[in-house]
Amino acid sequence: MSAQQPHVLIVEDEPAQREVLAYNLEAEGFRTSRAEDGEEGLMLMAEDPPDVIVLDWMLPSVSGIEICRRIKMNPATRGIAVIMLSARSEEVDRVRGLETGADDYVVKPYSVSELMARVRSQLRRVRPTTVGQVLTFDDIMLDAETHRVTRGDATLKLGPTEFRLLSTFMEKPGRVWSRDQLLDRVWGRDIYVDTRTVDVHVGRLRKVLTQNGGDDPVRTVRGAGYALG
Ligand code: CA
Repeated sequence: MSAQQPHVLIVEDEPAQREVLAYNLEAEGFRTSRAEDGEEGLMLMAEDPPDVIVLDWMLPSVSGIEICRRIKMNPATRGIAVIMLSARSEEVDRVRGLETGADDYVVKPYSVSELMARVRSQLRRVRPTTVGQVLTFDDIMLDAETHRVTRGDATLKLGPTEFRLLSTFMEKPGRVWSRDQLLDRVWGRDIYVDTRTVDVHVGRLRKVLTQNGGDDPVRTVRGAGYALG
């Protein structure tokens, strides 16, 4: 399902570099979007928010620095990891000095394997379950690689939708997710599902999580959605 695949937006005006990056990211199982300038990048980001942006510094129209600043100023996009590419290390120093909020910097010419490692590292931070990590919350443990969920000593049997729902919650405990955001993340935006479906599956998830008598860790936030803890 596309919603579970890590999504990387590449903003790079040099076609050859853009294609090499996209090819390598897709070979790693990531979904990519590509923009050839800053304006297109901002548009794609609003339409289909990525988990990570690989952003070139030197771009026609809006510069990489300006894009990065806008991403980090907007609460809706602040959580997207930005890896800035620049031609010279002095530029990297300048980006740091400008406090654009970029999460990482790579100097051109870079090795593709190095850049892939940086992308994976950012994904581990922003989307831990997509890179096969084990998540814990209180006495609940979720292993994204083996799809095993336990609470205390008990192994819990979750359906695929409940599993994705729980992994989304466990990636960011405390974060309030609206029903629409959960639909995007858990079901994928290509499928039409009624928002009430979210309530049904949250109900099922709660039932399994509390089947052995533990407290219900899922919080209903009136008028907003759901949160874990
Ligand atoms: Ca460029």
